[in-house]
Amino acid sequence: MVHKRLLKIGYQGEKGAYSAEAIDALYKEREIEKIPFRTSYEVVDALKKELIDYGLLPIENSIMGNITHNYDLLLENKLTIVKEVIIPIHHFLLGCKGTKIEEITTIYSHPAAISQCEVFLRKFDNAEILPTYDTAGSAKMIAEKKLKNTAAIASEAAARIYGLSILQERIEDYPHNRTRFLLVSSEPLQVENEPFIPWKVSAVFDTLDQHGMLYRCLGVFEEYEVNLSMLTSRPHKTEPWKYHFFVDVDGHANDENVAQAFEEIKKLTGFVHIFGSYPRFEAEESVTPGKRRKNGKKKKDGPLYSLDHKAEPTQVLIGKHKVGGGTFTMIAGPCSVEGRQQMIESAKIVSTHGAHMLRGGAFKPRTSPYSFQGLGEEGLKLLREAGDMFDMPIVTEVVSVEDLPLIVQYADVLQIGARNMQNFVLLKEAGKTRKPILLKRGMMATVKELLLSAEYILAQGNPDVILCERGIRTFETATRNTLDISAVPLLKSMTHLPVIVDPSHATGISHLIEPVSKAAVAVGADGLMVEVHFNPSTALSDAAQALDERQFKSLMKAVEKVRKLIE
Ligand code: PEP
Ligand code: MN
Repeated sequence: MVHKRLLKIGYQGEKGAYSAEAIDALYKEREIEKIPFRTSYEVVDALKKELIDYGLLPIENSIMGNITHNYDLLLENKLTIVKEVIIPIHHFLLGCKGTKIEEITTIYSHPAAISQCEVFLRKFDNAEILPTYDTAGSAKMIAEKKLKNTAAIASEAAARIYGLSILQERIEDYPHNRTRFLLVSSEPLQVENEPFIPWKVSAVFDTLDQHGMLYRCLGVFEEYEVNLSMLTSRPHKTEPWKYHFFVDVDGHANDENVAQAFEEIKKLTGFVHIFGSYPRFEAEESVTPGKRRKNGKKKKDGPLYSLDHKAEPTQVLIGKHKVGGGTFTMIAGPCSVEGRQQMIESAKIVSTHGAHMLRGGAFKPRTSPYSFQGLGEEGLKLLREAGDMFDMPIVTEVVSVEDLPLIVQYADVLQIGARNMQNFVLLKEAGKTRKPILLKRGMMATVKELLLSAEYILAQGNPDVILCERGIRTFETATRNTLDISAVPLLKSMTHLPVIVDPSHATGISHLIEPVSKAAVAVGADGLMVEVHFNPSTALSDAAQALDERQFKSLMKAVEKVRKLIE
């Protein structure tokens, strides 16, 4: 049996503590090992001894303000902030079964919870309100000792866990009570700046005891246009009336203006420490990657490719055929346009057996400069003629910006090949056209990079992008590439754009194309693009992967069968 190593996260409190809820909110469906500690200090200690991967510390509550000792722990231990999470805090008055609220003589809870229910507690003027180390810990103690006439302030989860009755719900003084928690590490982690994520930086600086010093420091943020979202101070414990100033600013520590602002403050004050850059928590707006927002609301600043931006699948209209959104598309044809007869014979085969579109390269991105480079404009004309003859839209590759004006005159779909996936100038120019773009994954590109390349096109106002998984380079050389089959459902969980698979370039071997295509269809591909030649043995490029008529016919039947099975 394989035991997977779960992420260990330490928190202060017992099971049912709000910190445990915050960990659940951070990790949603992911299984986490939550490890309780009596104090925040012990959490940090466990971090340093590498007994846990991360610690979770409450840092600020919307009613009572800063959790000051955790600010001190951050600074004293130079912890790195990895994430933040904000959760609503609803307090419940809990007691053993049969406890009557009017007979309560003692109420236990963590001081933070007591202060968040201060108005509610005023009516218990004869009861003793006693602080403990934890909300859930108080509930646990009452349950274990079966204390009579005693109550605890804790979460609803604590009532469930320790089998207590809820004597009164929602006793916090303000209904919008929230606590912000930080996920911290004792390692100096530097998280890369990812576009589209709103980042936040937390830092601390000291000011020299000079006139106007704090004013000058804050002016630096204004000067570098860095938005300051939080400022708070903690006393220097060793020097009375001196303070550490903690700030949160918008942006990433690698952003030029943020880096320069902190550099400047360092020159002024002599001490700046950055706790880390981390994604800003956005309450209702936050979505687990790959999950659709339940209410289908659009997130205005999400990437254009994302399901946050657009929940419905994109359907790309090409001629009368729609790609994506539940339809199936077969694009087939030779690797290169080689001549009139080759093109017409091959088009006839793919059309006869049900292809929706005809492919063929007129400008070829060949590995060797001495290999056949394509027929250029002559090839475009032949492809167009064959497409028109069999009433099929045509797909052809653009390898350079200079060829674009010519190719748009002939093609229905512009293909940007693996070797050009990160040709950003080409992506932008293709984005300015109104032609649908078939964007193939680079052989060394990650799924995220493919999506960001699509973003280049979308950002120019062209919404019609079809993604194509065509295999990536791995250590395996028995196949031409390695088809990353999991990229298909992964992409479909990250984007509304259609995703097709090219098993020809993925495998490079004609007899593998049918089984691999079946897998692609089974995992939800919106279509396939395959190379078909009327006479593979004479093909000028990619002969080993070209299907003949019999193989293509068999492929179409196999695909149909799988489609029926998964319907
Ligand atoms: C092609 O489809 O003709 C081609 C060259 O593929 P890729 O860019 O995926 O290598
Ligand atoms: Mn090819």
